[in-house]
Amino acid sequence: MKYISTRGEAPSLSFTDALIAGLAQDGGLYLPEAYPQLSRSEIAGFAGRPYAAVAEAVITPFVDGTLEALHAAIEAAYAGFAHPAVTPLTQLGDNLFLLELFHGPTLAFKDLAMQLLSRMMRQVLAQRGKRATIVAATSGDTGAAAIAAFRDIDAVDLFILYPHGRVSDVQRRQMTTVAADNVHVVALDGTFDDAQALVKGLFANKRLRDEFSLAGVNSINWARVVAQVVYYFTSAVALGAPYRPVSFAVPTGNFGDILAGWIAKKMGLPTERLVIATNANDILARALATGRYEIGQVEATQSPSMDIQVSSNFERLLFEAYGRDAAAIRRLMSALQQAGGFGIDAEPLAAIRSEFDAVRIGEAETTEEIARVWREAQKLIDPHTAVGIGAARTALAVRPHIPMIVLGTAHPAKFPAAIERATGITPPLPPHLADLFTREERFDILANDERGLAAYMRQRLRASKRAAS
Ligand SMILES: *Cc1c(COP(=O)(O)O)cnc(C)c1O
Repeated sequence: MKYISTRGEAPSLSFTDALIAGLAQDGGLYLPEAYPQLSRSEIAGFAGRPYAAVAEAVITPFVDGTLEALHAAIEAAYAGFAHPAVTPLTQLGDNLFLLELFHGPTLAFKDLAMQLLSRMMRQVLAQRGKRATIVAATSGDTGAAAIAAFRDIDAVDLFILYPHGRVSDVQRRQMTTVAADNVHVVALDGTFDDAQALVKGLFANKRLRDEFSLAGVNSINWARVVAQVVYYFTSAVALGAPYRPVSFAVPTGNFGDILAGWIAKKMGLPTERLVIATNANDILARALATGRYEIGQVEATQSPSMDIQVSSNFERLLFEAYGRDAAAIRRLMSALQQAGGFGIDAEPLAAIRSEFDAVRIGEAETTEEIARVWREAQKLIDPHTAVGIGAARTALAVRPHIPMIVLGTAHPAKFPAAIERATGITPPLPPHLADLFTREERFDILANDERGLAAYMRQRLRASKRAAS
């Protein structure tokens, strides 16, 4: 299977080449030439199977024989999760279900993709006898998940950029307290969007891309999206798929997670609605309501991993909604860069609205939702998940007979201040993180500047080579 760029001006790549590249050289995002199809009987056969077995069935056709040890990578990736089901499904109310994606090592759903991605990359780099430098922007959870996944991989140096002062203490400490010579943590003076733009700029600079052998693990990396398709199948099958359709509500920032749900649907999973849940940073809710995708000011909220205005993976959905017209996507993306927004044409807008809803949940509603779920179901939920549940209730009111699965994207202990405010209870960290607040922190504060970042990277790479030799 070949992968093509949404902007149509980069070469098509194999799965493993797209895995290493992350972003396409024309600034676009990779998508498969066609989506593999799963028959109803194949989907029905997932019932009762271990998570890793379903993962292998879903992921194998995308990888297309380009990774020798895919089976071993998948088994190892999910062996370290704290729940035997990996992603257990629990019921919160009438036709309202919670898919718990936070039982991995860093307590957010990012672990599901990152634990597999790191093992895939290690294999590809070993096969090619190469090293890579990974640079990633994070709104908090990607950084921790990437550090946990790559800290023991010698062929990789990892640079993580997070917005200074805009992540929770638990999130920051999960990144800054890992003592590994190949891990470099940067607090960037700016927002997440600034960090993401800086990383995109590095990748767009051919000289720097080659100098550092840059590889990307942000949610634009196709392999991450593929890994996330799996739990849409496992959860829907648990509720009777493919014989009964379900809907999903997904706390959304960069649009990677919900895009995976759309791909599951394309592969044959009967799906009624995909509900985009946003916090006060509601560019997607505004875009679906008005047809204009327009960047606003980033607002700091209780759900910082969704404090994003530019939703990178939305470009993939736009590409599909425009009938894979790469020239149209180039036009929209250049308007975004130059004028800070664009209008979505009538036909693609209608196509998107026919499958997606978008609901904005504000700060007060988020707090009320955390309190309500504690009151009604005796369950502590994190603020991102609360945004998802709030949006799910709105959508469920329209279609009460269709089961609604909310993606629980983070463990409540990652955001204790918000939980305490809503319920008076402080959720304890699980045992493997119990000493997080006594560990020593290591990070550097940098200005939002490409040349400064590149100089810092050179210096750190020299230092880590010295430490290794
Ligand atoms: C990353 C993240 C999100 C947003 O996911 P996207 O794939 O970027 O839309 C939501 N919740 C949590 C806890 C996250 O870490």
